[in-house]
Amino acid sequence: MAGNSPPPAANSGKKVLVVGAGPSGLAAAYHLARLGHQVEIQEAGPATGGMMRFGIPKYRLPRAVLDAEVARILDLGITLKLHTPVTNLEKTMRTGTFDAVFLAVGAHIGKRAVIPAGDAAHIVDAISVLRGMEGESPPLLGRHVVVYGGGDTAVDVARTARRLGATEAVIVYRRTREKMPAHDSEIEEALQEGILVKWLSTIKHVDAHELTIEKMVLDEHGYPQPTGELEKMAADSLVLALGQEVDLSLLDTLSGIAIKDGVVQVSSHLMTGHPGVFAGGDMVPSERTVTTAVGHGKKAAYHIDQWLRGLNPDPVAKHDAVSFDMLNPWYYSDAPKTLRPILDSIRRQSTFDEVQGGLDENNALFEARRCLSCGNCFECDNCYGVCPDNAVIKLGPGKRFQFNYDYCKGCGICVTECPCGAITMVAEEVSA
Ligand SMILES: Cc1cc2nc3c(=O)[nH]c(=O)nc-3n(C[C@H](O)[C@H](O)[C@H](O)COP(=O)(O)OP(=O)(O)OC[C@H]3O[C@@H](n4cnc5c(N)ncnc54)[C@H](O)[C@@H]3O)c2cc1C
Repeated sequence: MAGNSPPPAANSGKKVLVVGAGPSGLAAAYHLARLGHQVEIQEAGPATGGMMRFGIPKYRLPRAVLDAEVARILDLGITLKLHTPVTNLEKTMRTGTFDAVFLAVGAHIGKRAVIPAGDAAHIVDAISVLRGMEGESPPLLGRHVVVYGGGDTAVDVARTARRLGATEAVIVYRRTREKMPAHDSEIEEALQEGILVKWLSTIKHVDAHELTIEKMVLDEHGYPQPTGELEKMAADSLVLALGQEVDLSLLDTLSGIAIKDGVVQVSSHLMTGHPGVFAGGDMVPSERTVTTAVGHGKKAAYHIDQWLRGLNPDPVAKHDAVSFDMLNPWYYSDAPKTLRPILDSIRRQSTFDEVQGGLDENNALFEARRCLSCGNCFECDNCYGVCPDNAVIKLGPGKRFQFNYDYCKGCGICVTECPCGAITMVAEEVSA
């Protein structure tokens, strides 16, 4: 990122602390540095990347790519302190004389379930297993591995177990495939790799090398209900992949922080109830994805910058979602679908090589240029060219257009011809 970036703004003299070097913290640090602020990241772990390194397996996110991206961010002059958990934010802010803080500590505590188990049962949580993959020796799971859960983490850990040599990796999920939160493409790839899935099943009991599952049926409302029908399965390890919670203990002594459903409440500016402390990513109410986390980092950087300058602008209102039927696809060039290289399913089972390759530079640039720009004017000048009444005024590069309603007679040609659905017609107010 930084390698392609314009030079940072002049030094603002302000110092911002970023807690956590996952995608949200890194994105915030990058944008804050570009805005001219002095940025220090304090990271609890031994490396940057958060769940991009300690969750998402290598076969989906090669570490060389991650390392290169992080290096380009840090090259902006950001201070990174690894092995530095923030345990008391109030104290860290006081001793570090920071002007503002961006919190991005993610959600790292694996949820537990109460499952009756014998003393010798080997039960571990998925996050520890995936984190262990970044250590010196991979986790020992055995030949028969059962994973309990239905999200992407469950699928990732089952596929990881297979690559570690498990002859059988089985996902046990209490609902049906349609209800499984994991992405369908991930499930499909897992099935191709020989992962088995026991749908409509719950785990009743775990022993040393065996566990018992109970079959479920859907009731008339579509919810799974127990049947009393039991089945034994071989299991050297049971891996729990039941979701993650946020460790918010670092905020215990900080005033004004509101927590609901285990996550920190933030304003539309991503500021918490404590002035100057912002938060984003998995620790705030949101979709838990890398893109959302990165988006929060960028948005928070903007609002931190404004706050440090004593400004408090309202967030720019978002336009309504633009669906495909509101676009004019004729405007864009046709091109065959670009296929990304995919590793064959046999080789996948014994290596951590990337499964689905990325686009090369030429393809990536070509696809980026074909962006449909849904709902976002990209100044193609169509509206300006087709308006029969000269009612469209060009405001100059990057400033888009204005409509002169004294000239506009509402023919709607501009709306029809706009390729990206950026113009909407609204009924004129008629004074009584
Ligand atoms: C197994 C798995 C697979 C996933 N797959 C995908 C996927 O394919 N696509 C996708 O978009 N998303 C995926 N996600 C979700 C995605 O990884 C997260 O939504 C995203 O990483 C959240 O970013 P974050 O910056 O908020 O937190 P994190 O990535 O969790 O980073 C938080 C960082 O803060 C550090 N930290 C925590 N506490 C402290 C503290 N007290 N002091 C200092 N540092 C601290 C942590 O060590 C960590 O480095 C996956 C998640 C998991 C677990």
